[in-house]
Amino acid sequence: MIPPILVVAERDADGGLAAATREATGVARTMAGPGGSFVGVVVGADVAAAAEEFARLGASAVYVAEDARFATPTSGILAVAATEAARKSEAKWVVLGGTSQGRDLAGRLAMRWSAAAVTGVTELSTASDGGLRAKRPVFGGRATETRALDGARAVIALRPHAFAAATDDPKPLVRHDLSLEGISGGEVAARRTGLARPEAAAGPSLAEATIVVAGGRGLRSPENFALVEQLAASLGAAVGASRAVTDAGWRPPSFQVGQTGRTVSPQLYVAIGISGAIQHLVGMVSSRTIVAINSDASAPIFKVADYGIVGDALAIVPALTREVRRVRGLPPT
Ligand SMILES: Cc1cc2nc3c(=O)[nH]c(=O)nc-3n(C[C@H](O)[C@H](O)[C@H](O)COP(=O)(O)OP(=O)(O)OC[C@H]3O[C@@H](n4cnc5c(N)ncnc54)[C@H](O)[C@@H]3O)c2cc1C
Repeated sequence: MIPPILVVAERDADGGLAAATREATGVARTMAGPGGSFVGVVVGADVAAAAEEFARLGASAVYVAEDARFATPTSGILAVAATEAARKSEAKWVVLGGTSQGRDLAGRLAMRWSAAAVTGVTELSTASDGGLRAKRPVFGGRATETRALDGARAVIALRPHAFAAATDDPKPLVRHDLSLEGISGGEVAARRTGLARPEAAAGPSLAEATIVVAGGRGLRSPENFALVEQLAASLGAAVGASRAVTDAGWRPPSFQVGQTGRTVSPQLYVAIGISGAIQHLVGMVSSRTIVAINSDASAPIFKVADYGIVGDALAIVPALTREVRRVRGLPPT
């Protein structure tokens, strides 16, 4: 029997599979190929919707640890359940979504399950000897590393948005229940008892958005930062900010992109009045297309930008917003 690929579920606020897990599912399906299969594992309370979604995306089986104690499971709990699901399904490769939990889980699961692990993966291929080759950006996107995963077991956490989400390929739901009864005291002691959402902008979340519009100190004041938000709303984009903005209290820390903030890799990143310090670049440089608006033609952001506008953001951004709204048939703001 060809071993199945295992995908560990993270769930969205409605209980279905998170976008990052649908991307991991797409990768697992491609890795499995026509003759292979993939399976899912879901942990938490009210897991039916996620299990059904796995089956709708083509999972041959879903391992379910339905346990109200772990409604929002930590990586420690997920590692226990994933190890058990891998043992039962005889999976050798596990694919995780490109989220902070996916990255954390990759290390924990690799330790527990004695596997190799790689995070931030943007390309995967199989070598002639059957081993895996995983590519990922390193040094803030300045180089691409290729890792050989030749061991028997591997855990692969993806880079967000690097792969297409799985589309429907329905299979009957084959559910196998897992018990977390024997879980160790240490894991239970670390369980999460609450999850407060950070103060966030309207619109899509930074982690999942395909377009991010971010503003920096060049906006000059918190009131002018609203220009960034209006452009983002017109594009259906998430709003990001440089640390200069969050440190000044113009917007909350949850908006921050960069080394000490979020890492994003949307299809389009618009940087407005952001100089392009290395600590900002490491959080956004793998975005597919980067547009920079800055009054200083020598600003470092232009070194990574695909398109640049040199000029005053306070004049350019409102004009851009008007034009975007006109083209998209939206009423003027
Ligand atoms: C340990 C550490 C961690 C850090 N982590 C992060 C991080 O996670 N994220 C992050 O962003 N930073 C981080 N920083 C800070 C980083 O080094 C920079 O200070 C910060 O990114 C600068 O923000 P900025 O580009 O908005 O401001 P500035 O560097 O002040 O740049 C403002 C830009 O706006 C332009 N400008 C001015 N007026 C206009 C106008 N009217 N129209 C258009 N453009 C205009 C200017 O030419 C300039 O390029 C970190 C620093 C350290 C030391």
